[in-house]
Amino acid sequence: MKKVVVVGDTSVGKTSLVGKYVDGCFAGEHFATVGVDFRCKNKSLSIWDTGGQERFKSITKSYFKGAHAVILVYACDCEESFLNLINWLVTIESSVDEDVVKVLIANKSDIEDISVSHKKGRIFAEENDMLFYTCSSVTGENIDEVFDRIIDELREID
Ligand code: GDP
Ligand code: MG
Repeated sequence: MKKVVVVGDTSVGKTSLVGKYVDGCFAGEHFATVGVDFRCKNKSLSIWDTGGQERFKSITKSYFKGAHAVILVYACDCEESFLNLINWLVTIESSVDEDVVKVLIANKSDIEDISVSHKKGRIFAEENDMLFYTCSSVTGENIDEVFDRIIDELREID
């Protein structure tokens, strides 16, 4: 089983995204779980969600230990979550192996009034050696595609 870690600011939609992929449903309201939450689907990926700890800046190196892939999420309607990506990257780079698969997700793509253009997100991803997807837990856009792509990329590494 491959370990996939999901990070990004609070409320960018990480838990909804993982829930949508694993359960196919969208809870629709914010719920902060305590501690690390991990879910698996098809026994191929164990997906680690931060469980709300991100607001305490308490994500530790042990959370990333043994990760095969990292999904970094920001919300298109929240510029702050985009500006914080650089801080997340510093933490990620110091915590994971070089060959880890990195994916940047511009989340909440269903929202029309966005404050970060997809182009900006795509450029940031290119500059930092990450794959890039726009996603939405509301419409389901690209959610299966992201995890399928990760499975493919990891198969190539094996
Ligand atoms: P987390 O803190 O990153 O785990 O974020 P949550 O998954 O708890 O979601 C935070 C808020 O954003 C909740 O109110 C969700 O209903 C909402 N949300 C999550 N994903 C989407 C999305 O794709 N589109 C829209 N419009 N809202 C979303
Ligand atoms: Mg959450």
